[in-house]
Amino acid sequence: MLTKREKELLEGVELSFMFTIDAERDHCPHGKTYHGMTMLPHALDFCTDHEITATVFCTGDIARKFPDILKEVAKNHEVGCHMDHHEPLVPNEYDNRVISQQHAERALRAATEALRAVANPLCFRAPYLAFDDRFIPSLIHHGYHVSSSVPASHSRGLAVMGEITEVCVSASLSLNPLLEYHVFSLENLMLRGDSLLRGLFDLLILKYCTVPMLPVVFLCHSWELTTSALCAIRAMLDTFPDTMRFDTVSGFSRNLHESLKARL
Ligand SMILES: [Zn+2]
Repeated sequence: MLTKREKELLEGVELSFMFTIDAERDHCPHGKTYHGMTMLPHALDFCTDHEITATVFCTGDIARKFPDILKEVAKNHEVGCHMDHHEPLVPNEYDNRVISQQHAERALRAATEALRAVANPLCFRAPYLAFDDRFIPSLIHHGYHVSSSVPASHSRGLAVMGEITEVCVSASLSLNPLLEYHVFSLENLMLRGDSLLRGLFDLLILKYCTVPMLPVVFLCHSWELTTSALCAIRAMLDTFPDTMRFDTVSGFSRNLHESLKARL
């Protein structure tokens, strides 16, 4: 599938790749249901079969409703926090609710308590990838070390903000009810179906091979991991067998800090 030149480009390259799944109440196209939670165990079996340790960002709501599923998740994968009921930290194009800082703080506390019943969450993802830097002290207060809350296109790349490391999201798998699934890089490249591999390849090569410290963070929602989406991901893994080194979000951050310390 790859050309000779592309194979040469990939020779010796090892990219940090984080496979992240947001587990929350379903939204478009499923409506206000929890269908995604019935799909999550199958998707994580797929990850385990391919030696991928995923990071699953869960709402507190999910942790209270599906404790047994989350306990299974926590055996092999990382569990992170995605607020309590997916409260937005800032108004955005999907959710215009304006919540106060106190409301956000209460929601974070409730979510953290619910998640601690199954795991010790160290990483956080803001709903809708809409983060507010004023929230950083709350994250630190509740024991978080890493945030993956900003799209790569909006951000400063990899940033250490006090005690919180921001690991930006670089690509997303999103289900479009009319067009099957598509992958979009958060640098405005939109792809679907067969273009998926090509797009990820371009994303990896053009952007990330040139900046070796920059990881690829792939975001999907649990309800998007249909059999056909998993087949496409499997094809991608078969294409780049030696290129990707999978890590959890907090594992990546820990390694990053250790390697920075070693350089000083
Ligand atoms: Zn979400």
